[in-house]
Amino acid sequence: MTIFSKIIAGEIPSYKIAENDKFYAFLDINPVNWGHTLVVPKEETDYIFDIDDAQLGEMMVFAKHVAAGIKKAIPCRKVGVAVLGLEVPHAHIHLIPIQNEGDMDF
Ligand code: 5GP
Repeated sequence: MTIFSKIIAGEIPSYKIAENDKFYAFLDINPVNWGHTLVVPKEETDYIFDIDDAQLGEMMVFAKHVAAGIKKAIPCRKVGVAVLGLEVPHAHIHLIPIQNEGDMDF
């Protein structure tokens, strides 16, 4: 069970931003910028491009709605999107409000 599955199951606390039956969005514990949010599928898949096409499409649409919410809540020029997957072996998308150059420097 990945750390993100434990978060989804409520075994590890998180600050939830949004949720539906398939995906969960929550604040990153170590944000690059205020409002840095992670979008994860509830079903564990390590590598994001191993997710089947339909599910991946739904994940992007979910992320798009979450990004729109972040944009409303936090003054920013845009919400940056990144897929890293260096640390946690559970597919996820980073959504990062960016105002200035360098705001997405990891
Ligand atoms: P990546 O795998 O894309 O390189 O990075 C994983 C991200 O997950 C990091 O930005 C890290 O701060 C975040 N993260 C790791 N463990 C936790 C946790 O227990 N709670 C939350 N909210 N974020 C976490």
